[in-house]
Order: sequence, then C-alpha cells, then structure tokens
Amino acid sequence: MAIERTAHCDCGQVHITATADPYAVVMCHCRACQRRTGSPYGVGAYFQSSDCNIQGETNSYIRTGASGSDFENRFCPKCGTTVYWLTPFHPDGLGIAFGVFDGDDLPAPDRSVWESERHHWINVSTRERWLEGRTGPKVKSTE
Ligand SMILES: [Zn+2]
Ligand SMILES: [Zn+2]
Repeated sequence: MAIERTAHCDCGQVHITATADPYAVVMCHCRACQRRTGSPYGVGAYFQSSDCNIQGETNSYIRTGASGSDFENRFCPKCGTTVYWLTPFHPDGLGIAFGVFDGDDLPAPDRSVWESERHHWINVSTRERWLEGRTGPKVKSTE
C-alpha cells in the first residue's frame, strides 16, 4: 500500500498530503526554533517537494539563519501555526513541522543540530549530533 500521511494547521485551513517517507527528521535546538515553536526545540520532517501536496493559504516570514541564508517559514494566516518551511539547504525539499501531522507513525529524529543552545534537561538519543549546523563540530560521544 502506498504511504500517505496527512498534516494540517490547528484550524485546518492549511492541509498537506505527503506520499512518501521523509528523507530526514531533524530536531533543532536553536533559539529561533525555540521561539518559532514556543517549545524547547523544534522538530521537522523533510520531504521531497514533489511528494507533497499543499492546499490552503499561507503567509511567509523569512528570517536569516545562523548560516546567513534565508529560512522561510510558511504559516496559516488564521491560526498562526507554522506548517512548513523552505531553506536553501533543502533545495528540492521542504520541512514540515513534526507536530502538525495526523497519526503517530513518523520516524524518530535521526539528527540533532544546534546542541550548543540545547536546554540541559533535554535528552537526545539520535545517531548524529551536531553542536551547531551540519558544517560545524559534532557533539562528542560520552559513551
Ligand atoms: Zn490554520
Ligand atoms: Zn533551529
């Protein structure tokens, strides 16, 4: 059976159908993701854009990421949920906010970034851990 996952904003105006598995699931501890989500970290599932069907109206907010490149958040103008985002690091993909998916069968994060800004009580069990973005130093394994 073909994979099909659905996601939507809180009011339901923006709706996404993804018809493949995400190629990456990333947890990000940077302050900007903390502010965007109102949570101690953000988690995004990255899909090929061609595997996603997006319906509904979104507004965009572009911030400059720590790397100096634009990071474009797309959010629902009615309820304010950040539903997905676009970044030059994923030119053919988009990141969808983990929390907007229906169901609970998405894979766990395989990468953790910006751990230099991670809150001390957040435990991370991902395979790959980075102090900053993916071009910076890795977190030293304690094992
Ligand atoms: Zn909405
Ligand atoms: Zn971040």
